[in-house]
Amino acid sequence: MLTSFRAVFLLAFCLTAALLGCTAAQADSVIDKSAEKIKVAIITGQNNHGWTLDTPVLKNILDEAGLFDTTLLISPDAKDPDKAAKWQQFKPAFSDYSVVIINYNGEMWPDHIKTGFVDYIKGGGKAYVFHAGNNPFNGWTEYEQMVGLLWRKNNEGKRLYFDENGQQKIVQPGDGPGAGHGAKHAYVVKNLDPEHPVFTGLPTEWMHAQDELYHGQRGPAENMTILATAYSDPATKGTGVSEPLVWTIPFGEGLVLTNVMGHWWKNDATGPALQCAGFQTILTRSIEWLATGKVTQEKPADFPGKDAASLRELKPFKPLAYLYVPDFAPFASASVSRQEMEHAEH
Ligand code: ZN
Repeated sequence: MLTSFRAVFLLAFCLTAALLGCTAAQADSVIDKSAEKIKVAIITGQNNHGWTLDTPVLKNILDEAGLFDTTLLISPDAKDPDKAAKWQQFKPAFSDYSVVIINYNGEMWPDHIKTGFVDYIKGGGKAYVFHAGNNPFNGWTEYEQMVGLLWRKNNEGKRLYFDENGQQKIVQPGDGPGAGHGAKHAYVVKNLDPEHPVFTGLPTEWMHAQDELYHGQRGPAENMTILATAYSDPATKGTGVSEPLVWTIPFGEGLVLTNVMGHWWKNDATGPALQCAGFQTILTRSIEWLATGKVTQEKPADFPGKDAASLRELKPFKPLAYLYVPDFAPFASASVSRQEMEHAEH
């Protein structure tokens, strides 16, 4: 009996060891699989826009593409009485990521974060500046160089647009309009370089779903490659010329792509700009291209043509909570004052 007990025990021991070995192997393969994904960070936490809503939506879009492992880096809140100490503790490890998405429009970052970001881009890091990400950091010279055209007054930098013949024009500081936008509307995006990996195989003109169309953006406007524009129609309070929408600027060994599409205001339950199949395609292709220099994503079947926008259903998402205001409820109108709602939308 003792012998057979021993045999059973030994058999069980061996089976357990085998199972453990198998589990360990599976765990390794899971880790290996995620290691192949492109590591992306979205930095946010302050924005006049609905960052608690559009950030999880952006993450869902990236997750759906299946290529990215996305981390959220959430800054201290501007109203937090302990924010000074929290800013000092907030140390984003930018170099852990292939691409950093800027969904931030708030207070100037403290020096350690500014230095970290500049060093990251100089050393070969990549950034994607999302919509109002071109609004903040007035006077931070390196950021303004990386972004090129920002939400600034007309005397705070050059303006760049395209005339009716497609010729690029530079306007000097002080002349012409400063940063603004007309009424939100669907508009035709024109890809200026159809051979660019981000735009390969896509229609050169396609209808973007309802969004703001930024105009009169200002900045150093140096070393810019403009990839897409849209005609800013005076009928929607636009400028009557084609405004830059998507552009890149090399900085050191790195590269920054700015795409001013993507408006989503506070308390907006849905966001057609982010639901647009065109926007989503350009986003995921841009991130892959920034990270690897190539794009493996096919043109999706629902990519819009020139005549009609193509909207995708939003995947269910959980709004982020403000870190400082624990009872913040993004969809409860009482939680956002009338004054805040009327604050100029960018
Ligand atoms: Zn906006």
